[in-house]
Amino acid sequence: TGEPEGKLTYASADYAPGPAGTARIPATLLALVRNEELDGMLQSMHDLERTWNHKFNYPWTFFNDVPFTEEFKRKTRAATKAECRYELIPREHWDMPSWISKDLFDESAKKLKEQGVQYADMLSYHQMCRWNSGMFYRHPALKDYQYYWRVEPKVHFFCDVDYDVFRYMRDNNKTYGFTISLYDSPESIPSLWPETLKFLSEHPEYIHENSAMEWLTDKDGRPEHYAKANGYSTCHFWTNFEIADMSFWRGKAYEDYFNHLDRAGGFFYERWGDAPVHSIAVALFEDKNRIHWFRDIGYQHIPFFNCPNSPKCKGCVTGRLTDGESFLYKEDCRPNWFNGVLDWYDLHTTKKGPR
Ligand code: GDP
Ligand code: MN
Repeated sequence: TGEPEGKLTYASADYAPGPAGTARIPATLLALVRNEELDGMLQSMHDLERTWNHKFNYPWTFFNDVPFTEEFKRKTRAATKAECRYELIPREHWDMPSWISKDLFDESAKKLKEQGVQYADMLSYHQMCRWNSGMFYRHPALKDYQYYWRVEPKVHFFCDVDYDVFRYMRDNNKTYGFTISLYDSPESIPSLWPETLKFLSEHPEYIHENSAMEWLTDKDGRPEHYAKANGYSTCHFWTNFEIADMSFWRGKAYEDYFNHLDRAGGFFYERWGDAPVHSIAVALFEDKNRIHWFRDIGYQHIPFFNCPNSPKCKGCVTGRLTDGESFLYKEDCRPNWFNGVLDWYDLHTTKKGPR
């Protein structure tokens, strides 16, 4: 426990910032955000600029399903030295696809709501999850970028990070980077795993020989989740933080997988999130060694944290959870990912001993 391992920090000259305004890796900070979330977006930007981006000046790309207001543009531009771009999502990337029935959506939403599924009857939330799953990387504004770092309004970054994380991704052959991993609400995805298995039976060749299949199909972590999700642990990377290589999403395996899921209808008739969809895909079709835990990036999206125990981090106080916060443990899926490699319990709790 303690400081991030030496191999996880890259403050060497190799990773030093480029000249102001230049981005040495084709990468962008990426935010899908509503005009009404301007204040929350500014807060996230201030944190990320302060801890990291002022050293690198990677451009920001903002996406919206309606045009950004002048106020939004003016204030976000003022929050960074880097270039900012404001992009409208084309209708065909956002609208409910033609093969989805609105009546069936309304009916399913009612049932899901009764089961306590959050945002079940909010159509735009379903659209957002679908866009984040399979659409964003097709936007023409991203065509010259390979990597992105997804940022949501109202998140926090706590730690000074001195190296270029995009360069780290590229030089170390990483496809996907995460900070937090959680169990999902199984009621939101009952047919996601069965549909995945159907897809895999048609395309067994897409499963990587060094996949993380065992992480996806672990039944012991939370047996009720596994049962309700029909054979999926529900473990996923929490995608409100995501640093990834879009070549993976743009590749054939993911394209075929996404199209299969999209046709199956679960983005609307259930409430599939982009988190389980991305996570299942990257865990199945990619070498698990290309998935990287950014242990050294202190992060919060309410109510979960990733807190390194390091002097480089300010205000990431719940790195050690109090007993009152212990309900958060059972949502955390990182121990399954590390599979005993790290003494996770010791890292995150005030008390010693078995969970
Ligand atoms: P939660 O984190 O699952 O509670 O969902 P959020 O409300 O934070 O939404 C996830 C991300 O998508 C955030 O960055 C939101 O700003 C964005 N978002 C969600 N719905 C919409 C929408 O209808 N339009 C736009 N432009 N952004 C949206
Ligand atoms: Mn959010």
